[in-house]
Amino acid sequence: MARTILPRKDDRSSAKIFAVLISIEEGRERVLGAVGSLGSERVALADARARVLAEDLTSAVDVPPFDSSAMDGFALEAGPARALDVSGEARAGHPHEAELMPGTAVRISTGAAVPAGATAVIPVERTSENGARVEVEETRAGANIRRAGEDLRAGDVVLAAGTLLGPAELGVAASVGRAELVCARRPRVALLVTGDELVQPGEPLRPGQIYSSNGFALAAQVAAAGGELALRETVPDSAAGTHAALERALGAADVLIASGGVSVGPHDHVKGALRELGVEERFWGVALRPGKPTWFGARGDTLVFGLPGNPVSAMVTFQLFVAPALAALQGADPSPRRAPATLDEPVARNPRREQAVRVRLRHAADGLHALTTGEQGSHMLSSMLGADGLALVAAGEGELAAGERVEVLLL
Ligand code: AMP
Ligand code: MG
Repeated sequence: MARTILPRKDDRSSAKIFAVLISIEEGRERVLGAVGSLGSERVALADARARVLAEDLTSAVDVPPFDSSAMDGFALEAGPARALDVSGEARAGHPHEAELMPGTAVRISTGAAVPAGATAVIPVERTSENGARVEVEETRAGANIRRAGEDLRAGDVVLAAGTLLGPAELGVAASVGRAELVCARRPRVALLVTGDELVQPGEPLRPGQIYSSNGFALAAQVAAAGGELALRETVPDSAAGTHAALERALGAADVLIASGGVSVGPHDHVKGALRELGVEERFWGVALRPGKPTWFGARGDTLVFGLPGNPVSAMVTFQLFVAPALAALQGADPSPRRAPATLDEPVARNPRREQAVRVRLRHAADGLHALTTGEQGSHMLSSMLGADGLALVAAGEGELAAGERVEVLLL
């Protein structure tokens, strides 16, 4: 049998192929440098969760809109303990229309408007009722009154452009009366997974085949990062098939993600096809483990990521390079959330590449501690299970000892 000599994928031989491996930071800068803006659209408040606000949101109203009671009790003029006639009632949504008559109290519920003339609210627990009269304890001016505009003032910017809209932000937008928000358009993402060996979950596995996991993990990451999946295909390892699929995807998306086929094997067609389609390479090869063969380029405003096929590499490089791009495209802060932690076990360094080690974090008296999720092979997707973050371990000799501090990118 003829021996086929395939390029080896280890660091030494591929050093010749990957002329320079750039740092993670450099890669991220090149990605962010290629990001444009997608424009904005009006979104109903009910649909705006996880969207990014595209303009400052200025409140047109005070919140609360009027002086209101913080308690169930009686509105009155602040003063000493005494007995007062009960002259009416103010309920939430049903104000007491008249001014408070001197020498009287108005029964009031939490959230009801404080009647004009009243200067305090006394909680019901500090009163005793006797027919149409109520005995009250001493009260001081302003007690238990929530002032108009105490929370938010008309004219204030209550949410800044670039804010990611979570539950609190949506609540605040509603509290100032906004039914629609101007949000960044969601990036349309095309996802291609390449590989002749791939079979969809639910199908039988034939010899040499594996279930395709990248399409599912990456689609979920796209959604979590605010992208909208415009197209998703599995692509065979042929030059023509790869070219055709990439051409379709380029036409459909703001961001194209291909997994697999970007390494140095004879059946890796992605880079060649992208070149043919006029996508300009911005980098290929990152001093990163896992994720060395990561490729990035652009055609016009379309960003193109060639992620390695190994499932952990694909997820890690998505997190490091694609997620920031999706955030920046929407005008949100692309910097990953990070926290320092103490390593609870030694980690062998890689001589040439920075490592993104999947870790679980725990809180201790002296701060966060990180323990690896176990075996860290780029094919071992189970290492992503329960991972709270990626601990960055700089390239070098020997190991990073237990007790050393690491920077963790939070997942
Ligand atoms: P490649 O980057 O195409 O050389 O693929 C590297 C490794 O990742 C190979 O072992 C592939 O079988 C595997 N792989 C590629 N795509 C997927 C996928 N969608 N799901 C699971 N494994 C994959
Ligand atoms: Mg492949």
